[in-house]
Amino acid sequence: MLSVKNLTRKYKNGSSYINAVDNISTDFKVGDFVFVVGASGSGKSTLLNILCGLDTKIEGSVFVDGVDTSEFTKKEWAIYRNHYVGFIFQEYNLIEHLKVWENVALPLMFQGISRKEAKVKAIEELKRVGLEKFANKRPDQMSGGQNQRIAIARALVTNPKVIMADEPTGALDTELGHKVIEYLKEVSNDRVVVVVSHDEDLAETYATRIITLEDGKIIDDSAPVTEQYIQTKEISFERPKMRFSMMMKFAKNNISSRMVRSLFTSSIVSIGYISIFLLTFLIMGINGSIIDTLGKLVPEDQYQVYNIENTEITESMMSDLQDLDEIENIRYNVSESISFESRLGDNVNSTLYPIPYDSAQLTQYGELFGRLPATDSEIVVSIATAQQMRDLLTVDEDSYGYIFDLIDGVVIDLEFISYELLDEELVTTLGSYTIVGMTTGNFMSNNVYLDYDEVLDLSELINSEVTYRTTATAYLTISSEEDVEDFYVLMRDDYNLVVENFFSSITSGVEDFMMKALKWFIGIASISLVVSGILIGLVIYTSIIERIKEIGILTAIGAKASNIVGIFLVESAFIGLLSSGIATLMALLITKAINSLFTNIIETPLNLLSAGVFEMTLLSPSVLVIAIVIAFSVVYSMLAGLIPSFKAARLNAIKALRKE
Ligand code: ADP
Ligand code: MG
Repeated sequence: MLSVKNLTRKYKNGSSYINAVDNISTDFKVGDFVFVVGASGSGKSTLLNILCGLDTKIEGSVFVDGVDTSEFTKKEWAIYRNHYVGFIFQEYNLIEHLKVWENVALPLMFQGISRKEAKVKAIEELKRVGLEKFANKRPDQMSGGQNQRIAIARALVTNPKVIMADEPTGALDTELGHKVIEYLKEVSNDRVVVVVSHDEDLAETYATRIITLEDGKIIDDSAPVTEQYIQTKEISFERPKMRFSMMMKFAKNNISSRMVRSLFTSSIVSIGYISIFLLTFLIMGINGSIIDTLGKLVPEDQYQVYNIENTEITESMMSDLQDLDEIENIRYNVSESISFESRLGDNVNSTLYPIPYDSAQLTQYGELFGRLPATDSEIVVSIATAQQMRDLLTVDEDSYGYIFDLIDGVVIDLEFISYELLDEELVTTLGSYTIVGMTTGNFMSNNVYLDYDEVLDLSELINSEVTYRTTATAYLTISSEEDVEDFYVLMRDDYNLVVENFFSSITSGVEDFMMKALKWFIGIASISLVVSGILIGLVIYTSIIERIKEIGILTAIGAKASNIVGIFLVESAFIGLLSSGIATLMALLITKAINSLFTNIIETPLNLLSAGVFEMTLLSPSVLVIAIVIAFSVVYSMLAGLIPSFKAARLNAIKALRKE
């Protein structure tokens, strides 16, 4: 049961108003087959739109089952249209990109009914209008009469209490028109059916009641409702949600019907993401490579210890430190320039180092031929020193073993030569040592390595007057950042010593620099993102402009604003996914290409010189970065599509439907 009381709808006409519906009060009851007739412009469509809840800018009241609709929210109006009303338009208003059965099932899908279930009901409804065998066709493959029957099936599929039809026969020939009206009459016994028509013959033949309008007023009513309506129950406004799969379907159709444009937009948008990917990969690659290379040159677990005033760390202090729990080992940093005779009688000038506490360091970046010293009279030489001993110039990995064979077991006499006085060499003989090993790690330096205590003794011997030892290398037993920090404080307060980890101080410097670079890159990248955001917004906006009529149809059959917004948001999310997907693919391809170019042209030749120290990945792809960018892209696209989507949801359905 529908009632209107003192219903007026004003339209502005220049400076004055015209009353399209003028102070109408009447009721529509179940079982009546009502025809609203009248000349063109008499207000028939306006009245119908109001009864459907498509037009709510009214004066007076509309009651649905006794409930005053003036309190209805937009959402409740949408639910009312979806559950209570079936609307049949003059021009069928089917959605071209959906199949026949999907068109019929559409109102059900806005109720949150599954596709499968909706399909069953839609086919049933199509059977009733005799079109079930065309379920999988599209509206443009059907005739006008068939399309109007599809539209009727769509109006009836939710089993609504109210059927409204605005000139349903307007586009049909007389015979088809009669069929449509007969079918509507059939379904009218348990519903309110209101048909707008200017065909008075049709009305006379089928109507149980004819309302005649003129200038917005009822001038004749053949069978006014006399009984008083008693409210029996409240309208229920349960709010089922449209299934996400339904929004996907629309978005997918929207996009696939404009695939070229979607791909084009996504490709342009992806340029921004590609540049972000490549810049981040580059920064991460270089950063990682620098840290890797540094890690090879500066051992991570070594701490340098020195006196604040750069004065001696005394031997007693050293033994105190060695006793601390936090210190595994501490040794003076000692090295001395020494020389000895080569095979041909020349002097080989070399630097004498103790075997590192962590002797693995000797072999870490190369290989140890022979072995480490077992006594303090055994010595290890570096490959460069070995070469010089034998006057060999080439550095060829294949000949390392051969070179070692030439010097293995050779006894050398180490000398310390000081040039304190002009032209006067002061030679101190240090002793004879047997070569037992050769290291290829520190490949370019002329080094020899002896037992630590031996080096300490020798350096005392050489510098007997000046034995200041100002720096030491420590290995700590602790590794947590906090403990190390506490240890730094302890050393400063109790021993006046500074402790430093070169690796972390250098790498944190590098990381600082890289973070600054990253911020710059992000700044540049955001400009491209602003551009792509505008682009996505425009594409969605265009898509909306092209779909105004469709939005009108969806609204008329009960889509809520959130459904419309949802459809376009899914569409923009898809563009976001597509563009970041394209960007990921392109970035990975470009990364691969650049990295292999880099390896071939720069890294391999460089490594021949550096014995693998400068191993470098120029671009280092990161799954995390890719995931973040894809997620960002989807969210960002949705944000860009938000304004146009809300615009779509606010479109006036009546105006939208009039759009061709
Ligand atoms: P009918 O369906 O009987 O032909 P309508 O209900 O469409 O008549 O129109 C009734 C009156 O309201 C007409 O004078 C028409 O010009 C006017 N009207 C309808 N819609 C609008 C509108 N959106 N803006 C201004 N006037 C309108
Ligand atoms: Mg009309």
